[in-house]
Amino acid sequence: MSLLKYFGSRLFVENSSVVNLTKKNKTPFYVYSENQIKKNYLKLAKNFKSTSPLICFATKANSNLSIIKILGKLGAGADVVSGGELLKALKAGIKPNKIVFSGVGKTEEELKLAIQKKILLINIESESEARLLNDIGRKFNRKISVGFRLNPDVDAKTNKKISTGKSENKFGISIKNFYAIYKDRKQFKNLRIDALSVHIGSQILSDTPYKKTLNVLLKVINNLQIKLKYIDLGGGFGISYEKKNKEINLNKYAKLVHNFKKKLNCNIIFEPGRSLVGNAGILVSKIQYIKKGPNKYFIILDAGMNDFMRTALYDAKHEILPVNRISKKFSGALEFAGPVCESTCKFTTYKNYQKINEGDFVAITNAGAYGSSLSSNYNVRPLIAEILITKNKFKIIRKRQNLLKLISA
Ligand SMILES: *Cc1c(COP(=O)(O)O)cnc(C)c1O
Repeated sequence: MSLLKYFGSRLFVENSSVVNLTKKNKTPFYVYSENQIKKNYLKLAKNFKSTSPLICFATKANSNLSIIKILGKLGAGADVVSGGELLKALKAGIKPNKIVFSGVGKTEEELKLAIQKKILLINIESESEARLLNDIGRKFNRKISVGFRLNPDVDAKTNKKISTGKSENKFGISIKNFYAIYKDRKQFKNLRIDALSVHIGSQILSDTPYKKTLNVLLKVINNLQIKLKYIDLGGGFGISYEKKNKEINLNKYAKLVHNFKKKLNCNIIFEPGRSLVGNAGILVSKIQYIKKGPNKYFIILDAGMNDFMRTALYDAKHEILPVNRISKKFSGALEFAGPVCESTCKFTTYKNYQKINEGDFVAITNAGAYGSSLSSNYNVRPLIAEILITKNKFKIIRKRQNLLKLISA
């Protein structure tokens, strides 16, 4: 994570000392770097410059209003998966004509909202959804611009819990079913098929699955001789959580997309989430207790799986850095764990770590994506604060939830 640096023994996010943040804010809390988010966006935009795509931030990765605003100001659109996310994207100033709506279970209410707000594209994920949307279009007397999300049956070679493009996954419509729907398109008079979309999974570290997906799309488009305004290629670009993760080489992919676009003469949409915000955030936590187990020490943090669920949910590996670095070693193996009453409420384990004490602070790294947005009130724990580092200042962009409000029902 380039935003994290030690100056002397102290950990810094940009020019802000994390120790100073812990003096002014109750732990646990998230810290994000505005600069890093901007860098991530500009890097992606530059990489795909020759295709001038619409980059729609997948707001489920981090749905904090201030974060969506930062990306919106740089020109990003939004990829939303619920009515709530749609309203948040609009509130953050994203123009409706830059919003795409995905998801397998959109309700009638959510579809109506999307139509009323005149968003760019609704990506349909089933024949039933197409029928419902067509009915709504008829009632509104509107022809609705839609995409169909295809399931290309491509293995993204990622954690199976975040793979979405195989036939066994619930997402999208199989090619065969799409052919049938397309043949029958007279049934859907109030839909205008403007796009095809795909999203094959997350934390993808190779360009091979993307390449396969482009080929599937090309074949479908050629078979049907269908003219499209947009091709939505989804997100999924992986980041480097561990040193052994190589970052995906997007250069090669950009060239493929460039040629793809030239052949089809349509606009390209991307829906990145993780790659825009993942490395831009940390979760700062205090060591509450150190307890000796038979084989290892348990380092009990004040942050739990309700605050940061990625380890429990995906076995995700996140490096945990001491806020105050020293050379003295800890004697023995250790496991960072949280307070929630679940065995899965644990984080990374280390065979070797520096000496740490109760009351010290640590930072869970690469926590900017699918961190706060996946958090919950489990164990009646309040949602924690989110802090944004902007230049040399810090700003609270979500206050820690009030416990009294939390216990009202
Ligand atoms: C989650 C999701 C994304 C974003 O995935 P990342 O791996 O965070 O880039 C994009 N599109 C859709 C439809 C999604 O569900």
